[in-house]
Amino acid sequence: MGKTSFVTGGSRGIGRAIVRHLSAEGYAVGINYLQSREQAEALAAEIRQQGGEAMAVQADVADRAAVTAAIRKVEAALGPVNLLVNNAGIAQNDLFQDTPEELWRRMFAVHADGAFHTIQAVLPHMLHEKAGCIVNISSIWGLRGASCEVAYAASKAAVIGLTRSLAMELAPSHIRVNCIAPGVIRTDMVEGLGEETIAALVDQTPAGRLGTPEDIAKAVAFLAREDADFITGQVLTVDGGFIL
Ligand code: NDP
Repeated sequence: MGKTSFVTGGSRGIGRAIVRHLSAEGYAVGINYLQSREQAEALAAEIRQQGGEAMAVQADVADRAAVTAAIRKVEAALGPVNLLVNNAGIAQNDLFQDTPEELWRRMFAVHADGAFHTIQAVLPHMLHEKAGCIVNISSIWGLRGASCEVAYAASKAAVIGLTRSLAMELAPSHIRVNCIAPGVIRTDMVEGLGEETIAALVDQTPAGRLGTPEDIAKAVAFLAREDADFITGQVLTVDGGFIL
């Protein structure tokens, strides 16, 4: 069976590192993006130039019809998806009291509904094959509290709940569902915090550095490996010891 993966939010940051890593491991990769068309297309071109297979597809993961169509487009070109990585995400920084209803709903629409949409789109084939792997990117804030990020943390906790329950449901069909909870990873998402805050976060990390997108990409590749086939329903924290 061919190896085809679909990575949501693959245009930048952690998603881009996941795309590169999976391509190096022999996966054809569907690269989903929302706005960063140029970066997604450049990444797909880079992979093709290196002899890999990749296709960039635009879709808002919160839009069920759009993301399902994007997955079908990738499947028509690269084959049925047997590894799905739900990575698309957005950040938040405001007091709960000031959180607008639209922002609360958007957090759940992107993180929880997004995973619901993509998983339902790839499941029929996985169930038919009795094989497949799903990796959801949550956050350490889905496991622990995060002041000024209540909507973000709550929606990331929803992803953990989805992962555990779905893993139980799908294990008899040999489909594994796992979750990664990254710590602070140096991407556009954290650059906005400013140097002082970033330095304080490094201080709080036992490993003495912030994470890199590659740290998360390696964890995704590990969970996707065939010899990880008894690992399901887990939340793998990749944070240099930050929340120990
Ligand atoms: P970035 O902001 O660097 O990148 C976000 C990616 O998600 C982009 O590719 C963006 O696409 C895409 N995206 C956002 N909204 C949508 C949407 N509605 N539909 C499709 N794609 C979308 O973030 P990171 O790489 O840092 O984060 C990746 C994931 O890791 C997120 O889920 C985040 O919550 C999680 N995470 C990150 C941590 C960190 O410290 N960086 C810590 C813990 C978890 P485009 O550019 O095309 O709009």
